[in-house]
Amino acid sequence: MNIDSIKNGIVIDHISAKKGMELYEALDLTSLDCSVAIITNAKSQKMGKKDIIKIDKEINIDLDKIGFIEPNATINIVKNGELIKKFKVNLPEKIVNVAKCQNPRCITSVEKDLDQIFILTDKEKQVYRCKYCEMSLK
Ligand code: ZN
Repeated sequence: MNIDSIKNGIVIDHISAKKGMELYEALDLTSLDCSVAIITNAKSQKMGKKDIIKIDKEINIDLDKIGFIEPNATINIVKNGELIKKFKVNLPEKIVNVAKCQNPRCITSVEKDLDQIFILTDKEKQVYRCKYCEMSLK
């Protein structure tokens, strides 16, 4: 892929088409002061169409969040205009404060200070269950 536009930073590749914006918002990339590019509907041999996010800065990104939203994403780390590291994200075993429990009787609906914690209970089907009430996500 073309990394020309970035000198030092991160490229999130192989995002399913239309998920780029969701990821952009989930990672709170609007708060960055560097340039961030979202490429939507890029051509991909593997996926047909895909989204790509380019961040022109070395930042700490939340890999669990990316893995939860887009388990197929690839992370490319660019230094001095060269690709120095490339890896796939993993489906996280546990996610904290990424999603909200929808169960109105859940303790997290009452105790607003509690962290929203979900545990991966089925890797195949990507099922996450609330740590407190065991309700599954979606
Ligand atoms: Zn719950």
